[in-house]
Amino acid sequence: MSEKLEQIKNIGIVGAGTMGAGIAQVAARAGFTVILHDLREELVEHAKHTINNSLRLELEKERISESEHKKILKRITTAVDLQTLLRADLVIEAISENLAKKMEIFSNLDSMLKPEVILASNTSSISITKLAAATARPDRVIGMHFMNPVPIMKLVELIRGISTSDVTFKTVKKLSEDFGKVAIEVNDAPGFVSNRILMPMINEAIFTVYEGLATIQSVDEIMKLGMRHPMGPLQLADFIGLDVCLAIMNVLYEGFNDPKYRPCPLLKKYVDAGWLGCKSGKGFYQY
Ligand code: NAD
Repeated sequence: MSEKLEQIKNIGIVGAGTMGAGIAQVAARAGFTVILHDLREELVEHAKHTINNSLRLELEKERISESEHKKILKRITTAVDLQTLLRADLVIEAISENLAKKMEIFSNLDSMLKPEVILASNTSSISITKLAAATARPDRVIGMHFMNPVPIMKLVELIRGISTSDVTFKTVKKLSEDFGKVAIEVNDAPGFVSNRILMPMINEAIFTVYEGLATIQSVDEIMKLGMRHPMGPLQLADFIGLDVCLAIMNVLYEGFNDPKYRPCPLLKKYVDAGWLGCKSGKGFYQY
């Protein structure tokens, strides 16, 4: 492969949930054309609605003009047919945190897209090396881990799989910067750096409630007032999604084979009950 960086204009996004919608907004705002794919029409419609509302807030704060608002929305096409992504120069996968589902998507994308297309994953914890092994282009697979809410958070954690090439890395680093983000390079291990540190802290906060040490509100207040965290760990868990938190803890637990990463039984129970945090209306708090 030559050292020339890939030219990226059209970005495909697979998964139009919390993260996919945010990534689509940021990419379109930076001037890229976006094709946003999900399994059903109502899911992509909901994503468009979310993006429109988020941009409307930017308009109210006079960060974008009326005409920019319209232009940004125009750059986003939604699609329920995966084949629509054939036009993409780079695809960002943002489907649910599930290894088997992600492996299947990577294999499907690999077989249908031109060989030079870069495949990035927004996974919070799953091995990039494993996802790359589902394709015949492991040098063009990379982790592009955005933070939630994507339009606000500055960081993109860039994860190199064992075969990720320098050209792929540099292309995606430049793309992240074009999105207005700061990209930080890490290597591939369960949870990478961000969730290796954050998720055990959230899990431990859940244990303190499970063991009756303090109330939900007290745990969050302690971390906010005592440690200057802008949001308590339990409120943050609700915001991230308790199913996402549990999936990440399981990846850490199984990946390191170390009991220190065992997910708290209370977290499992909440997810079993369908209490997933903000997105389901109930988690540690009511929404
Ligand atoms: P979400 O549940 O809000 O959205 C996932 C979307 O993927 C859903 O709309 C679902 O219909 C779609 N989907 C599932 N399988 C699909 C398939 N085979 N093809 C197409 N679409 C499919 O989840 P999310 O919070 O947006 O998380 C998405 C990814 O981003 C996960 O890997 C998660 O770990 C990661 N992530 C999440 C956060 C967060 O705070 N929520 C932060 C960083 C990274």
